[in-house]
Amino acid sequence: MKIVILSRDHNLYSTQRLVEAGEKKGHEMVILDHSKCDLVIEKKRPGIIYKGHMVEDVDAVIPRIGASVTFYGTAVVRQFEMMKVFTAIESQALVRSRDKLRSLQILSRAGLGLPKTVFTNYSRNVKDIVKSVGGAPLVIKLLEGTQGLGVVLAENDNAAESVIEAFNGLKARVIVQEYISEAKGADIRAFVVDGVVVGAMKRQAKKGEFRSNLHRGGTATIIELTEEEENAALKAARVMGLGIAGVDMLQSNHGPLILEVNSSPGLEGIEAATGKDIANSIIRYVERNV
Ligand code: ADP
Ligand code: GLU
Repeated sequence: MKIVILSRDHNLYSTQRLVEAGEKKGHEMVILDHSKCDLVIEKKRPGIIYKGHMVEDVDAVIPRIGASVTFYGTAVVRQFEMMKVFTAIESQALVRSRDKLRSLQILSRAGLGLPKTVFTNYSRNVKDIVKSVGGAPLVIKLLEGTQGLGVVLAENDNAAESVIEAFNGLKARVIVQEYISEAKGADIRAFVVDGVVVGAMKRQAKKGEFRSNLHRGGTATIIELTEEEENAALKAARVMGLGIAGVDMLQSNHGPLILEVNSSPGLEGIEAATGKDIANSIIRYVERNV
């Protein structure tokens, strides 16, 4: 098969591992930078031009689209869909996963556990917002944040109100969320491929930090999910329509709470922590569908 990986950087660990796993199975692996694809829209013959050549005879694409290029990256995935090429992540699901409000609404409708969360349109009723998630301590998150940047723990109501007002003043939209203290600075990442959890890790924040992101100094270890956690992860990926998903959860004293469902989950942390060949699971998923 000819499998295209949409990635802006061929040196990334995840990109390299997918190439390696595909070539091991005898596939032709091609990396295309989606930001450099030109889309040809014409009656009944959609096409893609890359560095002056038409992209042809592709059997499948594996999108690795960063959050900052969602709009154009999704357009490229959609173009492949119009060319009847199988995609490991559908364009619709990709767009959906990048909208945090919409994602939480979909997860909540599915009956999944979530930390109590409030979104506002720069509301001035800051006191009410703080009250509605049960008061401090609470977590305030920049809607556009990633890798734990823009995630703040406010220890008391005054601090919470000031932080929300400050973000509002900067026209930075935030969500306000109850703080799950019993998670003790840890979260779980379940890596789901095609309806199966192919690896799971627990990430523990470094001392004095509540954010467990590896980029914030957290450490990851392999973990065995409870049945409840596994079911929650699978359901989250399913309702989001994602063939590949990194489902982040907090362990609370009333079961798993979903934090986020990632549509381009990194392979490095999870492969290192679990010792599993996640890239191969993704290639096998593609093989089953072409
Ligand atoms: P990002 O998408 O930037 O990584 P997250 O929402 O995943 O932001 O938050 C980063 C980390 O902060 C999480 O991995 C978790 O460890 C911690 N965290 C986030 N929200 C909460 C919460 N409501 N209660 C407790 N810890 C949280
Ligand atoms: N983008 C990384 C992932 O999806 C996040 C790593 C982190 O936790 O900081 O695995």
